[in-house]
Amino acid sequence: MSNNNLPTSVIEMFGKKLNFLDLGKDVGPDVPVYPGHMKTSFWWHKTHEETKFSLGESSNYPYGFGVKGIVTCDHTSTHVDAVYHFDPSKSHLSVDKITLPELITPSAWIDLSFVTGRTHITLDAVKKGLDAAEVTLKPGMSLLYWTGIEPYGETDAQYYLSQYPGLNKEATTWLLDQGLVNIGTDAASLDTPADIDYPNHTVHAEREIIHTESLVNITKIPKKKDFYFALFPLKFVGLTGSPVRAFAIWED
Ligand SMILES: [Zn+2]
Repeated sequence: MSNNNLPTSVIEMFGKKLNFLDLGKDVGPDVPVYPGHMKTSFWWHKTHEETKFSLGESSNYPYGFGVKGIVTCDHTSTHVDAVYHFDPSKSHLSVDKITLPELITPSAWIDLSFVTGRTHITLDAVKKGLDAAEVTLKPGMSLLYWTGIEPYGETDAQYYLSQYPGLNKEATTWLLDQGLVNIGTDAASLDTPADIDYPNHTVHAEREIIHTESLVNITKIPKKKDFYFALFPLKFVGLTGSPVRAFAIWED
């Protein structure tokens, strides 16, 4: 049975009842953006009334059509970083080139909220989180980790965007050595803003592995392993990232 306290949808697929939990934020003008990144703007390109007027009196369509314009950043809200984001020589690994085996993966999640904000997440901390969750990483998996910064995304944008920890070089290297194809977090970046050498992004560039930032609801996934992580970026040609719809999927 699905737990009614969770914001899940149960969808029957191939005779199985699967639980889908949304791990993504809204995309809109009020979502906090990474310092220096563009904010999102929407506007009416054509209102229903305008298109109804354009159709004229010979049309029997009663409503008109609403069409809005969008300006946003390819790293807004919950989003995936394509490898091209990390390294200008990797334009062939833009967001539209990310493959389905990178986007729909067996996954696990670990709680690293014991790591202090604006410090490095060390390999010891990662192993502690994995041991507590009884998770063994395997090639082809994704790993999600929760820093505890998520609630501040709703209450204190400045704190949310500046006070989280980030994976150091040793921890990132070890994680990618296990064959992970994606790492996701509730923080705005996998690197702490206290380290502008970006050790995590550096290793992801070298290994050509994507990662996913600003997830929500990781702690609401009721099992630490044996679920799937699925994310769906738009196929923006040549871009360095995309906001995503992201889900945890599991069978009861
Ligand atoms: Zn990003």
